[in-house]
Amino acid sequence: MKVLVTVKRVVDHNVKVRVKTDHSGVELDNVKMSINPFCEIAVEDAVRLKEKGIATEVVAVSIGPAAAQEQLRTALAIGADRAILVETRETPGALAVAKLLKAVVEREAPRLVLLGKQAIDSDNNQTGQMLAALLDWPQGTFASAVELDGQRIAVTREVDGGLQTVSLQLPAVITTDLRLNEPRYATLPNIMKAKKKPLETLAASALGVPAGTTLRTLRVEPPADRKGGIKVESVTQLVDRLRTEAKVI
Ligand code: AMP
Repeated sequence: MKVLVTVKRVVDHNVKVRVKTDHSGVELDNVKMSINPFCEIAVEDAVRLKEKGIATEVVAVSIGPAAAQEQLRTALAIGADRAILVETRETPGALAVAKLLKAVVEREAPRLVLLGKQAIDSDNNQTGQMLAALLDWPQGTFASAVELDGQRIAVTREVDGGLQTVSLQLPAVITTDLRLNEPRYATLPNIMKAKKKPLETLAASALGVPAGTTLRTLRVEPPADRKGGIKVESVTQLVDRLRTEAKVI
């Protein structure tokens, strides 16, 4: 079974994001970029399916600038077999990404597509759902466990108030939640081996899908600075201030 896994290049989650002085976006120059953490979980799960003998090939796909090759190489070092970069200088919106991924799915014919539930830069939480709708495939979103049984896959989903398990007929789309697994670190020998794995580059325009976005960013503002806390002398004083000042009780 071929598994396609998506990898988005985003600002590393440890970086304190700075807003550009003209408020048009966030500063990306000289900023550490990494694999979106939920995509890393997706890559790890795809590789585990391969180690269990369920997946025969794991193909990592990214849509973005030439520099996204770096994140694809990391996915290859984690254990993906080959990678495809759909190169574009534009910043595609979720629907454009979903349409480009659909074109890749039609070319590659995987039985399973694993995506992160959310990109930590755009915070859309839309791409997997849109891709499933465009393909007319079943979807299991926010997966915290997956178990394959023949032509079906059981996906345990983290929903408000508990866990829900759905059974999907393959081919299917799954988006990963935080608790699905803990991704491994890419070891130095695997980073070296990854340099020799195939990485194909396709121009987004060659897939016949416009890679732009219909969204226009009006202005980006940093969050308001947090005010410092205060120390109170006693629990009675705390309760009093919560009641009279914070008005939370
Ligand atoms: P979003 O809907 O933007 O929050 O993204 C959800 C997931 O879709 C991400 O975790 C990725 O797995 C995938 N995705 C979004 N944008 C891209 C991209 N440019 N390249 C590859 N995968 C992407």
